[in-house]
Amino acid sequence: MKPILMRKKLSMPGLLSELKTYFKGIVVPVTSGDISLFDCLMSGLAMFSLKYPSLLQFDKSKRETAVAHNLKNLYKIETIPCDSYLRERLDELPASELQGAFLTMIRQAQRGKVLERFSYYEGHYLLSIDGTGYFSSHDIHCEQCCEKHHRNGDITYYHQMLGVALVHPEHSHVLPLAPEPIIKQDGIKKNDCERNAAKRLLKNIRKAHPHMKFIVIEDGLASNGPHIRQLQALNMSYILGAKPKDHTYLFDWIETSQQTQTYQTQDKDGTIHNYRYHNQVPLNDANFDLEVNCLIYEEISPSGRKKTFSWVTDILLSEQTVTIVMKGGRSRWRIENETFNTLKNQGYHFEHNFGHGKQHLSSVFAHLMLLAFLVDQLQGLCCKLFQQAKTKMGSYARFWERFRAYFLTFKLPDWVTLYQAICLLPVVELPVFDTS
Ligand SMILES: [Zn+2]
Repeated sequence: MKPILMRKKLSMPGLLSELKTYFKGIVVPVTSGDISLFDCLMSGLAMFSLKYPSLLQFDKSKRETAVAHNLKNLYKIETIPCDSYLRERLDELPASELQGAFLTMIRQAQRGKVLERFSYYEGHYLLSIDGTGYFSSHDIHCEQCCEKHHRNGDITYYHQMLGVALVHPEHSHVLPLAPEPIIKQDGIKKNDCERNAAKRLLKNIRKAHPHMKFIVIEDGLASNGPHIRQLQALNMSYILGAKPKDHTYLFDWIETSQQTQTYQTQDKDGTIHNYRYHNQVPLNDANFDLEVNCLIYEEISPSGRKKTFSWVTDILLSEQTVTIVMKGGRSRWRIENETFNTLKNQGYHFEHNFGHGKQHLSSVFAHLMLLAFLVDQLQGLCCKLFQQAKTKMGSYARFWERFRAYFLTFKLPDWVTLYQAICLLPVVELPVFDTS
């Protein structure tokens, strides 16, 4: 069998090497202790990359000879910190310091011609944005926790995050960009909210990617005047959910206007697609000067089951574009299904508490987990050896099980050997141990 080699940059060692350079470049005030910030960051990343369910388990496991060897040899960690030291150091680091790491990864994808596979319509990329919660507690809290005060005096402390990923209707992989934590902002006592986080997120994305053409796809919460005006100011296109109950003015207009157009197509299997659309409709009476294009879409399956969706967009609607807008709008769910649900239920343990800290730890861990996820997504897209190993195992669950088993058991010379072992599944016979 001809050996499959790894790509230099878009492979596990290549991507880790990029992250190593990025982590080493983070300059923060030196605190006590002699283990570098790089070793702490890479240890955190390794914990998520290896799908450990807790920091305690990672801490115990790293004392084993094979694991210690592999963390040094494969993740390039020089001194592996203990759990309490790792928590203390990462708690001091503002999570915003890690945003550039996502940019570094996306640039690699761009150079390696992977990003162009995500180009959707006239050179635009679909940018799916949605919020999710990942921490909630009645007693554990930090300076950044948002608070919900209950009538009985109880307080719920929580962290949420606005996630964002490049998605494509034809691809199951997603490429997350740097998320925006929904946390108390410096010097502000009030809770943060998704709306404010979205303002910061969009500004940061435009700053990080000044020339990229985006179509932002979001749910119905986003189809409001101030948000659309911000998208326009940042030169971003949009396809935003718009429900009739939230937009009575807009939907009444479409019902009564003579200029509302209809279009129907039918698939070979009998699925019917009904489109009703109207260009240049005022969003509502409070934003009469803000005109949007509105698409109402109904899908009727061969069994007669109906699904209805509606969006507002700045893409001019016609018989040529309604399907493009519909497919783009519907791919919004990939941020929920392919990103948040994978992080929560497919081995990453997103909702587990790996340590909360007093300042930034919770947000830093969320960023490191997303970075580990991005590395995995890029491997899934670009690394033939990773793909072959995953195919051999059938499912991601079985792949990660085997990945961990080899990592925990054998001293590995390199990543190629680990993935080749998963492809080949060598039988290792243990000697009978003499314990007399
Ligand atoms: Zn907190």
